[in-house]
Amino acid sequence: MTYQTFTELCPVWSKRVLEGPASDVELRQWLQEIHSFQFCITGEAFGHRNIGEEQKKKMEIDFMPRCDSCYRLSNEIAKVYTVYRKGVMEPIELFIDHYNTVHQDGVKK
Ligand SMILES: [Zn+2]
Repeated sequence: MTYQTFTELCPVWSKRVLEGPASDVELRQWLQEIHSFQFCITGEAFGHRNIGEEQKKKMEIDFMPRCDSCYRLSNEIAKVYTVYRKGVMEPIELFIDHYNTVHQDGVKK
């Protein structure tokens, strides 16, 4: 499989990061989403944004023992985005590299 870019893996979030929020209301919604396993940047890469309610409940129970690197990078991205917004591409690029190296097939390892 070929290397997937941030735009390819996370079309929703890459647009948000590049263009910025249109209003304070939108920004507040994004800040909530970036702390959600389903709607955050790493969640989007893994396809969690589109899962149904049943699958979501199951995943919330199973979710903690997942990849340590993804967990750490996800927290880092959320923290940097919430506090600074600007420097967030740095941890995002680390995650995209990690994703392409370890999770190319989209599977949690
Ligand atoms: Zn990982």
